[in-house]
Amino acid sequence: MDFSWTTEQIKLRKKIIQFVKQELSANILELDRQEVFNLEGWQKCSEFGFLGLPIPKQYGGSEADILTTICALEALGYASQDNGLIFALNAHLWACEIPLLTFGSEEQKQKYLPKLCQGEFIGGHAITEPEAGSDVYSLKTTAEKRGEKYVLNGTKSFVSNGTIADLYIVFANVDPSQGKKGITAFIIEKYFPGLQVKRQVSKMGLRTAMTGELSFENCEVDLKNRLGKEGSGVAIFTHSMEWERGFILASAIGTMERILNQCIQYARKRQQFGQSIGKFQLVSSKIAEMKVRLETARMLLYKVGWLKKVGKFAVMEAAMTKLYISESWVQTCLDAIQIHGGSGYLTEVELERELRDALGSRIYSGTSEIQRLIISQMMGL
Ligand SMILES: Cc1cc2nc3c(=O)[nH]c(=O)nc-3n(C[C@H](O)[C@H](O)[C@H](O)COP(=O)(O)OP(=O)(O)OC[C@H]3O[C@@H](n4cnc5c(N)ncnc54)[C@H](O)[C@@H]3O)c2cc1C
Repeated sequence: MDFSWTTEQIKLRKKIIQFVKQELSANILELDRQEVFNLEGWQKCSEFGFLGLPIPKQYGGSEADILTTICALEALGYASQDNGLIFALNAHLWACEIPLLTFGSEEQKQKYLPKLCQGEFIGGHAITEPEAGSDVYSLKTTAEKRGEKYVLNGTKSFVSNGTIADLYIVFANVDPSQGKKGITAFIIEKYFPGLQVKRQVSKMGLRTAMTGELSFENCEVDLKNRLGKEGSGVAIFTHSMEWERGFILASAIGTMERILNQCIQYARKRQQFGQSIGKFQLVSSKIAEMKVRLETARMLLYKVGWLKKVGKFAVMEAAMTKLYISESWVQTCLDAIQIHGGSGYLTEVELERELRDALGSRIYSGTSEIQRLIISQMMGL
């Protein structure tokens, strides 16, 4: 086993840290307060090549292998505090581009991937519905086949990039009498008649990422915009989730490292009872736990990266990675606030925002309870 990064990967990490310093300097406190998406930052990320990192060059991507992609996302999370922008980018990558790349026809890939990779299109993924959350295959959106078209009716909630996306991967049932065997995926452009962005929802955290509700009222979709075969929606969703759960929190490793460094500096500098607070074991043990959590989370991430690099099945490992990183990220933020005392509670110190952003990770892409369920089911329970 070799856990070292290559010289090129180390150079890429440095380049990303430099890029964030120079190009992503927006006032996140203000963007968060006003719930504004940093479109300029998104375009800069596109110019850098972030939007198509693991996508082959023939479709306009950067063709980075999965470990290099992880290295880049980790560096982004380390350097940038805009967790919302990073989340938007991850939703675009894992839940829109990867299913298109894996299940799309050549025509669909040629048509959509270059636009997604080069910043012309923002991607989203819509499966959740008001009555279908964790029990996602109970979705009610229908896709009735009428001649050369499908007609979609239903509502999708919690769609990341929902109000700003140009293209959505949407799941609907072509034959509800077949249950989940009828679930089918579609590629839907924002201007297709019958698709309406109903509203933008306001969130506790990740407020610089836009989340929306979509409604489909007799939305006509050409047969050529079906993704994969009829009834292959469950397979497409399972595949997308393996990638998403494996890698959506790669940036959080960088974020946790940044927060850990901030805590070390603060614990060295802050004096109480005539000494730095880092000398108190009740403080230093929190920092030691943070470090152990960070390195354990990192190992899980790198392992799932390696499994996918060598083409292995990693559904359980992806669930473990998602579960562990999200829970670690939340705990790290809670500890960081505690170590910073009263100032940790202040908005201007920006740790409370980190906590608000981190909490979402225990819910999206399957809640922590659902990840535990998957892990136990994979062990035959
Ligand atoms: C920030 C954010 C972004 C999101 N982005 C997207 C997106 O882009 N596209 C999309 O389609 N969806 C998205 N979602 C939706 C997300 O996937 C769902 O919110 C999530 O799967 C949970 O569904 P729910 O909210 O309906 O909760 P519910 O399923 O109603 O769950 C409520 C509670 O019950 C628990 N629970 C439910 N079933 C079980 C069980 N069998 N065993 C134990 N506990 C259980 C849950 O863990 C949870 O604690 C996003 C959500 C958030 C918060």
